Amino acid sequence: MNALANQLKSTLKEKFGYESFRGPQEQIINNLISGSDQLVIMPTGGGKSICYQLPALLLPKTCLVISPLIALMKDQVDGLKANGINAAFINSSLSFEERDQILHQVAEGKINLLYLAPESVGFISSILKKEYLSYIAVDEAHCISAWGHDFRPAYKKLKFLKNSLPEIPLIALTATADKATQKDIIHELGIIDAKINIDSFDRKNIFLNVQPAQKRIEKILNFISQHQEESGIIYCLSRKSTEKLAEKLRNEGINVGVYHAGMNAEDRTKAQEDFINDQTQIVCATIAFGMGIDKSNVRWVIHYNLPKNIESYYQEIGRAGRDGLPAEALLFHSYGDILTFSRFFEESSNQEFQMAKLLRMKEYADAVNCRRKILLSYFGEVLEENCGHCDVCKNPPQFKDATILAQKALSAIARVKENEPMGVIIDVLKATYSSEVKEMGYDQLKTFGAGRDLTKNDWQHYLTQLINEAYCEIAFHQHNHLKLTPLAKEVLFNGKKVWLALPQKNTKYKKKEKQT
Ligand code: ADP
Ligand code: ZN
Repeated sequence: MNALANQLKSTLKEKFGYESFRGPQEQIINNLISGSDQLVIMPTGGGKSICYQLPALLLPKTCLVISPLIALMKDQVDGLKANGINAAFINSSLSFEERDQILHQVAEGKINLLYLAPESVGFISSILKKEYLSYIAVDEAHCISAWGHDFRPAYKKLKFLKNSLPEIPLIALTATADKATQKDIIHELGIIDAKINIDSFDRKNIFLNVQPAQKRIEKILNFISQHQEESGIIYCLSRKSTEKLAEKLRNEGINVGVYHAGMNAEDRTKAQEDFINDQTQIVCATIAFGMGIDKSNVRWVIHYNLPKNIESYYQEIGRAGRDGLPAEALLFHSYGDILTFSRFFEESSNQEFQMAKLLRMKEYADAVNCRRKILLSYFGEVLEENCGHCDVCKNPPQFKDATILAQKALSAIARVKENEPMGVIIDVLKATYSSEVKEMGYDQLKTFGAGRDLTKNDWQHYLTQLINEAYCEIAFHQHNHLKLTPLAKEVLFNGKKVWLALPQKNTKYKKKEKQT
């Protein structure tokens, strides 16, 4: 071990009490000390804080930490101080004198870590100089991206940091950033040469399972009878459905609690504690449940409804199997949920983003190849081999030579000049005289009716696969129009063969059924 490595390890032990670095922590710290800009993507609980806290102790100047979590800032700083680390924070709760005093301490080199809300950057212009700062850490960096799930306008202002202090290394950290968000973060913070460091998001002990939503109750009862006495969470979309479902399960003699934000604080706390202490086996909950719950022996998570995006799904299934023992995530997939969400999103200001993210979630649920590959690739991680531990790997669909149908679909996309979403492409293939078809005169196209032999559901199934396999893609910023990729040109012009999975009978959508 070289001297630096030794020093890092002894600081880790002395100041944080840990024996060894986890995952990419040491690499990230080395990059920071050697002056690179970085984007770090690490799952929640992965250990991001140490990546920027530890080097602050070794470098002579101050590390600036930008964090949106104002409410937690004081606790974080108190925790660091208790470990003998010189930390401070500045936010609007401090008086002018208090701020001034802290800025003086920074200028005197007495502060290792200075926490700051993005809104407060204007308060500290006197120390925004390279003689005072060793590096800048931007935590929860996805907040800078409108494509991220938690956009904060104040983050947009941070761009000036790199512009005005180009020599100071900047490290951006987040737990949730799909590839589009990653690009956005790099662009918005102006760290174009940033090293990207992605810690594995793979939770290998969780079996990934997706089932069509038909007969959900029956399937859930079956599932529970095969997982007797195991703790589990069932996530539902609405408060009402948590209560209805719990009632149905109780009628079958199952020990189940309810948790949602409409309950009073006392009932919520009790529901949570009963679950943590194994007084109730199962909780039917909305997504309000789980934040900060540390229960290591949750054996399974069921999604009664489709989550609204992959970030939420990943976070929710991550509550299972924290102890590393086998666990299962079962997702029920219904087209009705897609429609429900798209109505929700109509009222939101970033409807298009939300919808695009929902469609990625749908693609995951529709997958005909390894689900873990899709999940991980969403976070920018490549899994070389199929995982062998998801329902698709366990029960792979049958494939057929689908070159001709792929040619038909891709050429329909080309002939509408890549200007239409999937629904209209299917209208063209099936010769459906929809209003778009009539308005645009698509009935004159050569491909009009070329795909009459297949049902609409089949076309949805095949087009989804063509998207998932990158023969075409959805232009999320352009009304979800389908666009051809270079791979499509191979199919259309160079005779590339395409193999696609046959639709599985039981995975087709039905209209949401009534549950009595
Ligand atoms: P994140 O910010 O990525 O969600 P934290 O930085 O809060 O994660 O770390 C999560 C937990 O893991 C904390 O309790 C932290 O003390 C612990 N931790 C971090 N790094 C290590 C390590 N190298 N060894 C053991 N525990 C660690
Ligand atoms: Zn798999």
